[in-house]
Parts: sequence; C-alpha cells; structure tokens
Amino acid sequence: MKNSGSLLTHLECVTCGKKYSYQEPRTVCEDENCKAILSAQYNFAACKLMKSELKNRPATMWRYREFLPVLNLENIVTLGEGFTPILPLTNLGKHTSGRQVFYKDESLNPTCSFKARGLSAAVSKAKELGVRETVIPTAGNAGGALAAYSAKAGIKAHVFMPKLTPIAFKAEVELFGAEFREIDGNISDCGKLANAEAVKHNWFDVSTLKEPYRLEGKKTMGYEIAEQFGWDVPDVILYPTGGGTGIIGIWKAFDELEELGWIGKKRPRMVAVQSENCNGIHTAFQNKELSSAFKDNGFTLANGLRVPKPYADKVILKVLRDSNGNSVSVNDDEILAALREIASGEGSFWTPEGAALWHAFKVLTQSNRITANEKVLLLNTGSGYKYLENLLPYIRR
Ligand SMILES: *Cc1c(COP(=O)(O)O)cnc(C)c1O
Ligand SMILES: [Zn+2]
Repeated sequence: MKNSGSLLTHLECVTCGKKYSYQEPRTVCEDENCKAILSAQYNFAACKLMKSELKNRPATMWRYREFLPVLNLENIVTLGEGFTPILPLTNLGKHTSGRQVFYKDESLNPTCSFKARGLSAAVSKAKELGVRETVIPTAGNAGGALAAYSAKAGIKAHVFMPKLTPIAFKAEVELFGAEFREIDGNISDCGKLANAEAVKHNWFDVSTLKEPYRLEGKKTMGYEIAEQFGWDVPDVILYPTGGGTGIIGIWKAFDELEELGWIGKKRPRMVAVQSENCNGIHTAFQNKELSSAFKDNGFTLANGLRVPKPYADKVILKVLRDSNGNSVSVNDDEILAALREIASGEGSFWTPEGAALWHAFKVLTQSNRITANEKVLLLNTGSGYKYLENLLPYIRR
C-alpha cells in the first residue's frame, strides 16, 4: 500500500454524534430515529503539511489528500478534477459599484460539472472498500460523473435519470458504459426506484448525502476558494442549491481550515439560490423554519435544482443561519436573461444553475443585502453546453 497520508479517523453523525468506522461502506446514521448524514472526521492536530507546500502539488483536488478519505494512493480514481480557476467578471462587474465579483468556473471539470469532485472521492473510496456495483438517482450531471469515474475504476454503475433531461446527459452515461434507466418522474421518483433496486441487488447507493464521501470531494471547493484568494475568504458566496452537498461541503472546509490554522475566524455569508419551481429551502429559510417541505412545481431549465426535498435540508438551513446568509428564488425567464448576459458580456457559457446566481446577485445588491466594497463569489457549477437541447429554442430565435 502507498500511504496517501490521509488523516481520516472515523465517520460521525452530524445530529446525534454517533461514531462509525470507515472500514466498510456506509450510508447514513443507523439509529432508526436519527438517520442523519455522516461526516468524515480527521486528525488535524497530526497534520505535518504546511500550506506553503501546496504549490508543489498537482493542480487537482487531490492536492488536499491529507484531508480526503482515501488511504491508499493507488485507489485514487482521478480524471484531473478540481483546482478550477477563479475569474473576475471584468465587464459586467464594472456596473456593480465597488463590489468585486468573481466566479469559480466548475465547467472545466471532467464531465463539465463540479459533480466530478464528489464522484471522484466517492468512487475512489468505493474502490478502496471493494464495492463492485453502484447505483445513483440523478438530475443529470451526477450520473455522467459516476459513469465516467466508474469506467476508470472498473466498477459497474447503474444510473436512474428523469425522462425530462437533455439528451447529452443520457448519452454520456451510455457512452461511459453504465446501465442507463430513464424514469417518468422527478429525482425523488428516481431515488425511490434506485433504492429498491439497490436493496434487491446489493448495489451500493451513492445518492447525494446518503453516501458520506461525495461531500468530501465537494468540500475541496472551499479549500480552493481559501487558497486561491490567498488564504482569505470572500464576503459572500452564492451557490445554486439542489441537494446541498456543495454548500454544506464548502462550509465544512472552512471549519477544517480554521482547525488547521490556515484561515482565521472570518466566514462568508452563504446564499442558497433556487429555482422558483422547486424552492423548498428558500421558502423554509424565509419562514425561519428548521426543515423544508416537499416542493415540486414541475420543469425548470436548471435540472440540478429540481430536488423537491433535499435529504440534508436541516443541515443546509443551519449553514444559512450560522453564516448569517440568505436565500433567493429565481425563475426560468430570469435564468435565461442572466445566461445570455454572462455569455455575451463575459464570453462564458454558464450552466442555467450558475446563471441563476447572476440574477440573484443583482437582486441582493439592489436590495442592499450585498453592500459596496464586498467581495462576492459566484459558483458556476457546470457548463451550459450539455443543456443546449433545452436552451436552443430561446437562443436561436
Ligand atoms: C447538482 C447540481 C447542482 C446542485 O448541487 P448540490 O451541491 O447538490 O446542491 C447545481 N448545479 C449543477 C450544475 C448541478 O449539476
Ligand atoms: Zn445519528
């Protein structure tokens, strides 16, 4: 075994604190009354790596391997994910009176979205634990990423995707050699069917936040944000929130970095941006509720945001409260206008989920919820190219 230097110690339930070993595949807390998500824990006190040494590491998320769950370097399944650029909105940003607006371009990841991070971590750990077959319910990007990393790892993947998903998402799953199943329903329906099949065939279920290591992959966005801003964090981060792994992961990263002594106490205000057709988190946050209700009013261009009831809703809402953050709900017309503005103004074809952030940013500045001279980061989670089928009727008029 080639020791990765991972400082992983155990998994811990975020609600009841029950501890679990990392030696076998795990999903959620086993306590029937709890069933909350499990969070990987590390021995940061034993860390010998200095942040100044990172510059000699490869420009992928595995540069943070001490704080990732894979123990044997040979089990890391990588396609070059992570360490995506943070760029200023040079043209559109000019109109934001003193506010510095940046975006992190996650479209440059393998399979064109940030889902690559979570699935690189999850598939690597599954390989380490000897998992042979996996299953995933997906709105699109996660299925493509699982299929790609599974192909690389030699693991069989089964992907359950709603019928109303652009063809590019379906085609890549089949191209990567996974089993593809088209479901007449939303991601919750896919989840139920995937779970039933998982139990029947003994497949490992890598559903968002029911599998603990996708979160670890996604938290690397937080590590990168701090490193790329010179071990500082922006004042505000806008995040398109579906299942919530990204927002929870970035927040976890900042706590870990403070424990390492690599950043201080300052935290960004985290803003969850949702699609009006599926805005359970937004509604719950604005009503000061601790959990969200099931909400799905049908199609949205932002597939990744059509999650009627995130499994980790309570944790997402806690991050918003703890960070003194906020939430914004955006409709498809606003998403399209924002997508066009970013494309023609900045030369970048954002995913509809990411474009929602540009509209939300304008809403927040106009209502003074982002003030002058604040540094703002928008997480463009993926690429618009995979959504062309749905976007073309609006782009070519
Ligand atoms: C999955 C997805 C999201 C939602 O991400 P979560 O971290 O699960 O909230 C946002 N944007 C894109 C492009 C996605 O694929
Ligand atoms: Zn528990």
